[in-house]
Amino acid sequence: MTPSRLLIATTNPHKAEEIAAILPQLETVTLSEVFGDRIETCPEDGDTFEANARKKAVFYAERSGLPTLADDSGIEVDALDGKPGVHSARWHGETTPYPVKNAHLLDLLRDVPDERRAARFVCVAAYATPGGVVESARGTHEGRIAHEIRGIGGFGYDPVFFSVSEGATFAEIPAERKNQVSHRARAMQAIAARIRAASPPSTP
Ligand code: IMP
Repeated sequence: MTPSRLLIATTNPHKAEEIAAILPQLETVTLSEVFGDRIETCPEDGDTFEANARKKAVFYAERSGLPTLADDSGIEVDALDGKPGVHSARWHGETTPYPVKNAHLLDLLRDVPDERRAARFVCVAAYATPGGVVESARGTHEGRIAHEIRGIGGFGYDPVFFSVSEGATFAEIPAERKNQVSHRARAMQAIAARIRAASPPSTP
């Protein structure tokens, strides 16, 4: 039996909506529905997406008493040895606007040819129960860093991430399409299968 109520451990309403849309078979609740305006912050100090996602899921499962789904995501740029990676949100300052971060990224790769501009979005989804079950699953989407800002959709690094399979940046494709093929969609589909496997149907 899949859990009847699943806490989505994010304060980002767009992410919560996106995850709820990817997992329509589950009834989801948000952090603010559970904790109101007293939401504790879980430190994201792990070295890997897995560590951060698992830590967040366990943190909120313990505090809420509910099975909890958390994620951690970012962009890895091969020419920068995988940076910004787990530091994607904080890269060049948490409050620095993305047009500035993206301009900096383009600048760093200014003379780098296409074959060395490989990058990928990574998302790790983690599921934890108050009883101590923890599962995680990784989703990726391969691409390369574009030569210029392209498109007005999406958020974050989307305008500089050229998807190989879509033949366009993530900011140029419709949101519905991104939600089908993104690293986050892939991680969520994979974790949904793990959640079902971790909670097998009870026999009558
Ligand atoms: P977090 O998973 O909320 O910690 O976010 C990590 C950061 O990775 C975001 O703030 C963005 O900078 C970046 N990121 C993750 N997923 C995406 C995406 O789908 N598009 C653009 N940027 C993303």
